[in-house]
Amino acid sequence: MKIMKCRCGQQVYFNNHQCVNCGRQLAFNSDKLEMQAEQQPGTGLPYCLNRTTAVRCNWMPGAGATGYCLSCGLSHTIPSLSNPENFERWRKLELAKRQLIYDLLRLGLPVDATRLRFEFKEDRRTNPNMSDAHVTTGHAVGVITVNAAEADEVFREEMRQAMNEPWRTLVGHLRHESGHYYFHELVDDKNRAECRDLFGDETIDYDTALTRYYDNGPQADWPAQFISAYASAHPAEDWAECWAHYLHIRAVLEVAVETEILDFDQEGSWYKHFVELVLALNEIMRALGLPDAYPFVLTEPVAMKIEFVHRAVTRRND
Ligand SMILES: [Zn+2]
Ligand SMILES: [Zn+2]
Ligand SMILES: [Zn+2]
Repeated sequence: MKIMKCRCGQQVYFNNHQCVNCGRQLAFNSDKLEMQAEQQPGTGLPYCLNRTTAVRCNWMPGAGATGYCLSCGLSHTIPSLSNPENFERWRKLELAKRQLIYDLLRLGLPVDATRLRFEFKEDRRTNPNMSDAHVTTGHAVGVITVNAAEADEVFREEMRQAMNEPWRTLVGHLRHESGHYYFHELVDDKNRAECRDLFGDETIDYDTALTRYYDNGPQADWPAQFISAYASAHPAEDWAECWAHYLHIRAVLEVAVETEILDFDQEGSWYKHFVELVLALNEIMRALGLPDAYPFVLTEPVAMKIEFVHRAVTRRND
């Protein structure tokens, strides 16, 4: 995330609505990727229509006439607002989504509202009136579905333990699922062979592979070859996991550079800088008696896959 400042010079943050120093209203401009502040307190700015709903979105309206920002405009289904608990779930889901959209725009990737959409759905586990027993978080042809219950800390922690994951976050889910969509945007005839060398053949039968994973567990050698156990389930999941980690890495490095913890501009050294930084970050967390901030091992095969993701992104922008 970039360091953002109000007109008065006060540092402000990605989710701020108002400057604590001068009282100016703030709104994030997704075209310029910067926070804008009112000319004078009270003069106002264009606001996304969700600024005054439970979402409390702080973005400006996007292109087009909907009145919603680019991010809010991508939500085609939201959890039922007849259940007051969903106000908070919806707010958290949209905040994580704005973070994802920021990631994608920052990398120069297209966010095409005619092809990408989000469905935040409830199931019977949180609302007995819902017809679905289970909503599965996933992606299909540009539609990213998220079980709205993932916005509850307790539900998410129970799922994390049941799935034996080191981590489970909303933004992590969204980054992962966006990877399935961007695979089709970034992998084509020019780089498909290299992609298959690294990740395997993504056309092998998905349902069979996932059934095998859930019945028999991950590949035995997964810690050496994959960023997570789940990545070993199928080449498409390996790509999506590496994609999510690439977005984590770029987000962390942006903060490190913006806050002057790191200073580098060589395109080739970003990965090495990240590894050094997270080792230090994990030590800081341990010093505080907290779990590791980044509980993953970046082996050489994983590094090669994440570097391929980076090349696929930068190739598109060349
Ligand atoms: Zn201010
Ligand atoms: Zn919005
Ligand atoms: Zn996936």
